[in-house]
Amino acid sequence: MATSLVFRLHDRGPEVVREVLLERGWEEYDEEEREKEDWNLYWRGSAFRNSEYHNLLPWQRLNHHPKTVGITRKDCLARNLRRMRATFGSALYDFSPTAFILPNDYTRFLSECHKLRLTRGPSVYWICKPVDLSRGRGIFIFEDIKDLVYDCSVIVQRYISNPLLISGYKFDLRIYVCVKSFHPLTVYIHQDGLVRFATEKYNLSSLQNLYAHLTNTSINKFGPFYKSQKERVGQGCKWTMSKFRHFLHSQDINELLLWQRINNIVTLTLLTIAPTVPSCPNCVELFGFDILLDAKFKPWLLEVNYSPALTLDCQADITVKKRLISDLIDLMNYTLIDSFRERAYQRRGYKNSCFNPVLSKFKETTFQKRRSAGKSSQNQTLPLLKTIHQPEKTNQRPSRQNSFVANNPRHLPPVDLNKIQAARCRVITKTHTDKTLNLILGSHSRTNVSVVKSQMCSALAPWLMDNRRLHESEVTNCDDAETEAETELSEGTDVSSSIHDIPPRRLGIRRPAVPWKLPDIHSGNNRPARTPLEGNTALNGQHIPPLRVGDFIRTFPFNTATLKASQHELDVKVIIQELHKLTGQLATSGKKRRRQEVKKDKDGEEQFDSLLWGPKDPPLLSQHFKST
Ligand code: ADP
Repeated sequence: MATSLVFRLHDRGPEVVREVLLERGWEEYDEEEREKEDWNLYWRGSAFRNSEYHNLLPWQRLNHHPKTVGITRKDCLARNLRRMRATFGSALYDFSPTAFILPNDYTRFLSECHKLRLTRGPSVYWICKPVDLSRGRGIFIFEDIKDLVYDCSVIVQRYISNPLLISGYKFDLRIYVCVKSFHPLTVYIHQDGLVRFATEKYNLSSLQNLYAHLTNTSINKFGPFYKSQKERVGQGCKWTMSKFRHFLHSQDINELLLWQRINNIVTLTLLTIAPTVPSCPNCVELFGFDILLDAKFKPWLLEVNYSPALTLDCQADITVKKRLISDLIDLMNYTLIDSFRERAYQRRGYKNSCFNPVLSKFKETTFQKRRSAGKSSQNQTLPLLKTIHQPEKTNQRPSRQNSFVANNPRHLPPVDLNKIQAARCRVITKTHTDKTLNLILGSHSRTNVSVVKSQMCSALAPWLMDNRRLHESEVTNCDDAETEAETELSEGTDVSSSIHDIPPRRLGIRRPAVPWKLPDIHSGNNRPARTPLEGNTALNGQHIPPLRVGDFIRTFPFNTATLKASQHELDVKVIIQELHKLTGQLATSGKKRRRQEVKKDKDGEEQFDSLLWGPKDPPLLSQHFKST
């Protein structure tokens, strides 16, 4: 069966997502032609409604996790980082400029200004940003407190007044971070990213000149010097990260340490919300982290973007973003289970489809009737699910492969199936050739598809449901121009009635009943030969996520200790210790020779290892420490 997957783009954009998916053989959702739930991926620039998380079907993915506003809105981020600083020390959480949320923190801000004036003299600069705007809108820089005028909620942040400059131009780094899962925390950072330049030379005596002080493309592309050739920077206002790496080589710095410090910022920032994000296994999110380097090469976190811009303004955008989206789709790991959508929704003759009664019963059972849990409904539902999910014979004895699959079930999304929690459906698909899977993943997929043979779908939504309300509005840093009009509030309904939720202010995490595990399709087939195929490995029964997917490098978990620390209870202390250790090793690795054996587990397989994110050709941690 030729299987096509269907994507749905909210409000027509972003175009690059459409382009990449169409190239991979996907079809675009058309509401005239298709049923409401007849799609595999729904992409929105703004927040999903709670009901959309609530009603997810097994084959559906969303491009946002719920409740990430804690890092994607400027005031929430400032508040969360302040809390972490108080708990874990300001030495660790020293990567974001001191910030005050006004009007609430006005008195504290005044006393800080006063203190700084006494210790540092008058030359302290501040930047004021509206909390719920993005793309440089409403931002200004000031030195004298009398110039601070605001009529909405803002954050006032220490202005990093000694940025690293390239030929006199300020720049920042846009780092693309994919959180594959919050439970267990699984993070990938893309090797490529963007360097975004201001288009006029940096000058502290002209604080009003936004073309010299802000690096937003949305501002600089309207600047008078956008198109002119600028010394070393060139035309426009962007570089790819690869070009930036060339620049770094010419600097006398410990480059690996710089990348690791950026990596630490990403992990430490995500740790601020990880315990409170509900588990939603079919969500994947791409965040844009904005990092500014100062003249001493210290990286500073400026903000986290909820919907990083995906517009293609220049060649650097095309190079980076198309590949980024393609790798993201690979990371989403569409497999055969996702094609069940098509079986359920026969496009032609939908109403008469032989699957239709099954589907409507399925839908009725799962989402509409919400009958009370009871044996009768379980007994009714199980055969229905089997009808949908069981395309092949199921009376085969479990092969070795199938027993692997049985040990590595994939979570289905947390649809509201309380009544049939116990119902499990086993899907034993026949051996699928690369060709078949390429149909699903797309011929342009850079993922090695040859190893997926079978899967099992585990219990539908075995999550425990809590009743917690969203405390913050979902207005966030969406810097995608296509989403300008839609920084809308999410519905005020309760997300967590359908998704596994975590009590607030707890660092311990209740783990989903069945840990989510990636099948072993991720191997990066055009990567250096030394990259091991890892998706299949397990450590003490715990699945190790693949270390790279396309140009996405797994940055968390990065060793056995962090894997364990994130599986059951999220042990932030252990994670922080491990980050310290690794950073310390990298800081000294250029000077000291370290001996480190690659440990073998019982079966002689290599234990957990990680690639060092950052360098163009990233070495394995174990290899790096062995060879330095
Ligand atoms: P927005 O969401 O509007 O893009 P940002 O926080 O990213 O807001 O700020 C926009 C730009 O302003 C950044 O890209 C950076 O160039 C500059 N900027 C922001 N905060 C600081 C700061 N604390 N120090 C120096 N420059 C900053």
